[in-house]
This record gives sequence, structure tokens and C-alpha cells, in this order.
Amino acid sequence: MQELTHYINGEHVKGTSGRFSDVYNPATGEVQAKTPLASKEEVDRAVAIAAEAQPAWGAMNPQRRARVMMKAVQLLERDMDKLAEALSREHGKTFPDAKGDVQRGLEVVEYCIGAPELLKGEFTYGAGPGIDMYSMRQPLGVSAGITPFNFPAMIPMWMFAPALACGNAFVLKPSERDPSVPLMLAELFEEAGLPKGVLQVVNGDKEAVDALLDNETVQSIGFVGSTPIAQYIYGRGCTNGKRVQCFGGAKNHMIIMPDADMDQAVDALIGAGYGAAGERCMAISVAVPVGDETADRLIEKLIPRVESLKVGPYTAGDDVDYGPLVTPQARERVLGLINSGVEQGAKLVVDGRDFKLQGYEDGFFVGPCLFDNVTPDMDIYKTEIFGPVLSTVRAQSYEEALKLAMDHEYGNGTAIFTRDGDAARDFATRINIGMVGINVPIPVPLAYHTFGGWKKSAFGDLNQHGPDSFRFYTRTKTVTSRWPSGIKDGADFSIPTME
Ligand code: NAD
Repeated sequence: MQELTHYINGEHVKGTSGRFSDVYNPATGEVQAKTPLASKEEVDRAVAIAAEAQPAWGAMNPQRRARVMMKAVQLLERDMDKLAEALSREHGKTFPDAKGDVQRGLEVVEYCIGAPELLKGEFTYGAGPGIDMYSMRQPLGVSAGITPFNFPAMIPMWMFAPALACGNAFVLKPSERDPSVPLMLAELFEEAGLPKGVLQVVNGDKEAVDALLDNETVQSIGFVGSTPIAQYIYGRGCTNGKRVQCFGGAKNHMIIMPDADMDQAVDALIGAGYGAAGERCMAISVAVPVGDETADRLIEKLIPRVESLKVGPYTAGDDVDYGPLVTPQARERVLGLINSGVEQGAKLVVDGRDFKLQGYEDGFFVGPCLFDNVTPDMDIYKTEIFGPVLSTVRAQSYEEALKLAMDHEYGNGTAIFTRDGDAARDFATRINIGMVGINVPIPVPLAYHTFGGWKKSAFGDLNQHGPDSFRFYTRTKTVTSRWPSGIKDGADFSIPTME
């Protein structure tokens, strides 16, 4: 069986802790590799090497760093199929979807080519007699990132691309469930010109994460994953004086107004609800039709579409709409939640629990499920299922639908489908959720805007990518200088003002 490695100082390094985690092929159910779980000592060593490599990289002019990003974009395009194949094999998502995962990360790298412009800082000439004042953005030093299984290419690049472009070194702790692509990315960035040691990958679990949180050299921590872990990392990281941004779980509602184009809404729900087997933080997991007549029309159109979804391995190419879940534990958890929905009185109008695929009987597949008559007290409503399950909660009015989405503890994404501009504008203004789609079901902002939820979907002030990322990965220093230095105005014992 393949033994995966860490990537430290430009080399693949075997784990020394003696602890490993299984990496599955989710379509077949086989364990295809084992990944090392780093000890505190291994993490500390990776951080120390990163700290040694950082000053020269941080001192390089931003245009040269941008050229590394430019070259990395070309290499990502060159290796797109290879990366997507490795990604699908460990994650289970379809090949086109895996390419999208790489492409979305590539777009953040592309944005980072603008580093010289984004790092320019501010300057005031003549702020006082002979006085100039300027603010500069300096790298933090060593930054670290902890990423989830569901976007093993995009989310690491969300973090390390801007961190590197700003002149930091970066230590990545990817998900232990699909660690191959992050290792490939580290190699690829070195081929693009990144000096050795500037981007390190340590594989691991809580022990590695805690080592990063407690290492005094690490200046910032980025996290994306589930909310309980996000809260834990935010708390411990902040207590240790680090800059921390943590992104958590989601329960994204899509409101369907009576005037919506129902075919468009159904297409949107099918893609956003079941794409990637629902393993997306921006998946739509709750449909909220307004009025019973809208709900009846929606359910009637949804049922045949959900029933005809094609589920299979990524190797089946375009013949598959979505693949298996990532691990047997993920499958068991999702099936348990579906059962709880039935027990608590929701109506399971499409039941995919018994789905089996010939030749892939041991794969972690769950057939598509559609619930009607879900109520807010049910576990399937309160919990993020992260599976191919769409819940329908019927609302009697727009205000009831709006309140439902607002009262949920998560606030990552949401959408409204309507032909009424007033309703759409009112929704976008009042909703307490970070990313809003108007007739767009997965409103993931592009690389030059920022990505981030509200409420229990995000902890910390600054978002991922876009201008926020350049703020997160730099510290501002403001310099007040006086030239000519010969001006003498005596000692002044009061605070300087512009009076
Ligand atoms: P997860 O929280 O289980 O794991 C995320 C990372 O945390 C992994 O690297 C893992 O090794 C580490 N980790 C796990 N347990 C830990 C512990 N006890 N202490 C320290 N570190 C620990 O999340 P996941 O299952 O990999 O990913 C799915 C979750 O991520 C979903 O909740 C999804 O909504 C969320 N997500 C959110 C966003 C967003 O932008 N808000 C994006 C993608 C995924």
C-alpha cells in the first residue's frame, strides 16, 4: 500500500511518529494509501525551516513573487487533468467537478499576480512641515493553514497563494482524508520558482493542529472545516496571540417565491443540492417554497429529477452527476440523519438509502434523498447533513421564509428565486448571511471578491481571498518621517496634532 509523506524543505519526507490514517478510494471502498500523522516535533521542525526560508522570500520584490504566481498558473493549467484525477480518486467527486476545484484555486493564484498593486500601501506627502507619512504592508512571517477534505485543491490555494504573494512562508496542514493533491501543489509551486522551505505540507490530525496553534513562530492561522473545530481553533489561536480566521459549517436556504421561474429553480436545486454529493459548504440543503401552491409545484417537478440523478464513480466520466461520500463514517452519519428525519415525521418523498451500484457494492454511495414537510425542530433541519439530501420547509409567506433563514445558526450562503426585483432587493438587504444569490443558487464570490459567511459559519474579521486576504496576510506599519532633518521647533510636551 502507498505510504504518503510530508513535504518539507523541498522534499517528500516520511512520517516518523508511527501514526497513520487511512486514505480511501470512496468509489470502491478500498484503503488505497496511508498518510502519516505528524507529531509535535515534526510540525515544529517544519515551522522552523519555514521561518528560516521566509526572510529572503519576504525581502524579494513583490513583482518577482508575482512572477512565481504567474508561472504557477501555467503549471496548474498544464497539470489540471493529473491533479483532478488524483483529487477524484481520494475525494470521490466527479472529474469535471474536480477540475472545477483546481480551477477555482487557480483563479485565486491568478488574482495574486496583482500583488505589487495590492501591496502598494499609502503615502501622504507633506502631512506636516517637511513631514511625510506612509503605511506599508509587511508580511507576518510564518502563516499556517488547516483545510477540510471537501476542496483539497481550492481551499489550500485560497490560503497559501495570498500568504505567499504577501511574502510569508506557509505551513499547510491539509485534511488527512485526501492529502495527495496538497502535496502535488507544493511540488508544483516549487517548480514555478518558489524557494525550498517557503511552502511546507505537514499531514496530520489534532496533534499537528495543536502544535501549530501553540508554536510561537506561527503568526497566523487560517482554518476551514466544521464549526465545532473552527470555534476551538479560533479560541486557542486567539488566546495564543495569533491572527486567526476560521470558517465553519453551513445550512444554506433557497427561497422560492410564487412568481419564480419554476424550471429554473428546479435546475438550480438539483445542481446545488446534489452536486458533489452535497459535500459543499455552499450546497443548498434547504428549499423554502413560499405558499403551499408553490411547494406542491416544486415537489412535483423535483421528484422525477431527483429520481433520475446518476450516481457513480468518477471513472464513469460525464455519465455521473455525483459520486460517493468521502469515508464510511461520513456515509453512516448521513444515513443516520436521514433515518432521524423519517422518525421525526418528515416526509421522505425520494428515498436513496438503499442505493447500491453494481460492481461498487463497497463504495460509500448514498442515493439522492428528498424530504418534504420538514420543520425547524427536526435534526435534519438543525444539522448540516453534508450529503445528497435536500429538505423542503414550507413557508406561508415571504416574511416567514426570511425569518427562517435568519434564525438558523449558520449564515454561509443563501439564495432567492423570484422575478420580483423589490423582493430580491429586500432579501439581499435584510438577510443576516454572508453570501447571497439572486436567481443564482451557489453564490460563491470570484477570486477578486471576498468569500465568507456570518454567524456560526465564520469566526474572525477578514474573509478569504480578494482584498481581505492581502489584509489578513500582512501587518500595516505606518512611518512618519521628517526631511529635511534640520527643522528645529523645540521640545513639545503635548500630543502632536494638526492644529
Ligand atoms: P473537519 O472540521 O472535520 O476537519 C477540518 C480540518 O480540521 C482537517 O484538516 C482536520 O484534520 C482538522 N481537525 C479535525 N478534527 C480536529 C480536532 N479535534 N482538532 C483540531 N483539528 C481537527 O471538517 P471536514 O469534514 O474536513 O470538512 C467539512 C466541513 O467543512 C463542513 O462542515 C463544511 O461546511 C465545512 N466547510 C466550510 C467552508 C466555508 O468556507 N465555510 C468551506 C468548505 C468546507
